Amino acid sequence: SALFSAKAAGKNQFKFYNQKLEKKLILKQQLEQSLHSDTDHQQFEVHYQPKINIHTGHIIGVEALVRWRNSDGELIPPSDFIPLCEESGLIIPLGEYVLTKSCEQAVLWREMGIEIVMAVNVSIIQFEDPQFLNSLVRILETSGISPNMLELELTESVLAKDINYARALIERIRDLGIKVALDDFGTGYSSLAYINGFPLDVLKIDQSFVRNMLRSKTDQTIIAAIIQMANGLNLKLVAEGVETQEHADELKEMGCTIMQGFFFSKPIPAKQVTAQLQSEILTAALD
Ligand code: C2E
Ligand code: MG
Ligand code: MG
Ligand code: MG
Repeated sequence: SALFSAKAAGKNQFKFYNQKLEKKLILKQQLEQSLHSDTDHQQFEVHYQPKINIHTGHIIGVEALVRWRNSDGELIPPSDFIPLCEESGLIIPLGEYVLTKSCEQAVLWREMGIEIVMAVNVSIIQFEDPQFLNSLVRILETSGISPNMLELELTESVLAKDINYARALIERIRDLGIKVALDDFGTGYSSLAYINGFPLDVLKIDQSFVRNMLRSKTDQTIIAAIIQMANGLNLKLVAEGVETQEHADELKEMGCTIMQGFFFSKPIPAKQVTAQLQSEILTAALD
């Protein structure tokens, strides 16, 4: 009967939910073990995704994106473990590790004559940690990165909680010479009124708008508004999630210069970025 099948479906759904929950718990256990036993964070890999200036075709920066190589050798994406790290507070040591590693990489590139901006994601939990600024200053000093080559990507969630705290901390960060970007822009809580006069350097248009822009007039209109706003407020603009030539062409037409997405490159290990950057230098030399 209909009732029976609904019940069966419900049961299946419950089973599915249980399996998901179980998987999450196993992952969480593995993760905690990893982070505790693996104090030098060997199981975490930082990959880098290029950001391209569409007019020159050159890589102008990269975004550092962490991956976890679990004990089974699988590469786990951040969506599967960052939330767990945030719940447990482990995001603080992990975030410091990613920041350290990324700054060191930027210095390695600089030593090769390559000056690109290193963007690193910062979780709201890190941002609210009273030790964050100290640890940032320490990492700047020990790595030797030029602060103006570092950009921190924050999400709108940092503006939603305590706007005065957020403003003050962002000002301190920018006083160090570090750039601040607002990530996933347009999806969160911030209205125009919030952003206006806020101490920022970069807006990153959320990839959901880019994904739908070719078939959704609304999303295209939102992108146009964000571009206009960024220009008006003198902010740099990055479009993320650029997956096809059509997206790149349309965004360029609309006035967007810096792009990031699978169309150009997926996030890749540092060595592969180095190879790309070196071939760029070679091409420039041959021009
Ligand atoms: P995000 O900061 O918005 O990073 C962009 C995400 O979009 C990355 O996913 C990237 O691989 C993906 N992406 C880039 N281009 C495309 C595209 O063309 N198509 C599609 N479908 N996706 C694209 P990833 O690496 O899985 O990271 C997801 C999120 O996890 C990041 O979003 C960020 O919020 C968080 N995350 C990653 N690494 C870190 C980290 O070191 N610290 C913190 N706190 N968060 C991190
Ligand atoms: Mg980001
Ligand atoms: Mg983003
Ligand atoms: Mg995101």
